[in-house]
Amino acid sequence: MISYGRQDITAADKEAVIEVLNSDFLTQGPAIPAFEKAVAEQVKVGHGVAFCNATAALHGAYNALGIGPKSLVWTSPLTFVATANAARMLGADVDFIDTDPRTYNLSIEALEKKLEQAGKKGRLPDLVVPVHLTGQSCDMEAIKRLGEKFGFRIVEDASHAIGGGYKDHPVGSCRHSDITIFSFHPVKIITTGEGGMAMTNDGELAFSMQLFRSHGITRDIERMEGEPDGGWYYEMLSLGFNYRMTDIQAALGASQLTRLDGYVKKRHEIAAYYDKKLADQPIILPHRESWQYSGFHLYVIGWPDGTGGRNRKQAFTDLREAGIGVNVHYMPVHLQPYYAKLGFAAGDFPSAEDYYAKAITLPLYPNLSDEELGKVVSTVKRLAAC
Ligand SMILES: *Cc1c(COP(=O)(O)O)cnc(C)c1O
Repeated sequence: MISYGRQDITAADKEAVIEVLNSDFLTQGPAIPAFEKAVAEQVKVGHGVAFCNATAALHGAYNALGIGPKSLVWTSPLTFVATANAARMLGADVDFIDTDPRTYNLSIEALEKKLEQAGKKGRLPDLVVPVHLTGQSCDMEAIKRLGEKFGFRIVEDASHAIGGGYKDHPVGSCRHSDITIFSFHPVKIITTGEGGMAMTNDGELAFSMQLFRSHGITRDIERMEGEPDGGWYYEMLSLGFNYRMTDIQAALGASQLTRLDGYVKKRHEIAAYYDKKLADQPIILPHRESWQYSGFHLYVIGWPDGTGGRNRKQAFTDLREAGIGVNVHYMPVHLQPYYAKLGFAAGDFPSAEDYYAKAITLPLYPNLSDEELGKVVSTVKRLAAC
């Protein structure tokens, strides 16, 4: 089976990990700040705060922005459940914004309309979380403008988009947001096994997230409320979790990061190959906005009902049976049983639901061979034709 995503681990990655294993620190050592600094430099932002995964980073980011039981967080229904769940973990209410039929990212028109209605009803969101689905950036200038007008904060869920750009700036530079989140799960663009990072230009937000990932504890004398008793002294300033990344993971991430640009370039080459080979097929190919450069985590095709005499489900099953490890990203979050119990229902976000009815993710990762790519294309063509 050709999987839809797969990590690339080199000899240099293994050496970097072994070096940490032979060192004094497996966790809370120097590899973590080194990795944070390297990612921050890569995406041109002030601070990076590493977490054990991107879900924990989202939790820490929302918490740093003051999200709590009375808050309201809006995001896209086309995301992994964690984007919405992190708000629920803090006791906040969640609502969704319908998606753009071409980019599948949250629709700016739908957002603006919903904000105007919410303003009239007197309950505006405290936080909006745009998700750069498949790696294509949302229109952040437009979202930032609305944020200023309606008074909400912004966290970018860029789990798919490290290495991508928006209007000449790297995704993660936080020019139009408070915090940006990356994921380093093995199917994502670079990996630490499990891992995530929150990027920000705001030192206070960074400090708050550092506390949150490590029990609310600081050893920084400047930050303490009392006088240190001695060299052992630390203070717990707030409630926190153990959401730390290990040095083993950070070393792997730093080694992977040196190949980020090459990985994204290769992903674009594969996407261009699919574009070209599938251009004449009766399926929907990914649209790209000209003002962004995608991280290309995913290549999603739309399978209109009846194409090749198949609906999406049959096409998916037949692709899998032919050894193509296709996937579907994502089932709209509002239709998950947990969210349905909160009152969401089918029909609430028609554009997202329409996308979901057609979506199939084709394999996309840097080490796909020409032979594998050829097999993906010929199988899609065969199924679309008969
Ligand atoms: C992968 C992913 C997450 C969660 O990342 P983890 O590192 O697995 O916790 C969150 N949001 C989106 C959009 C993702 O793709």
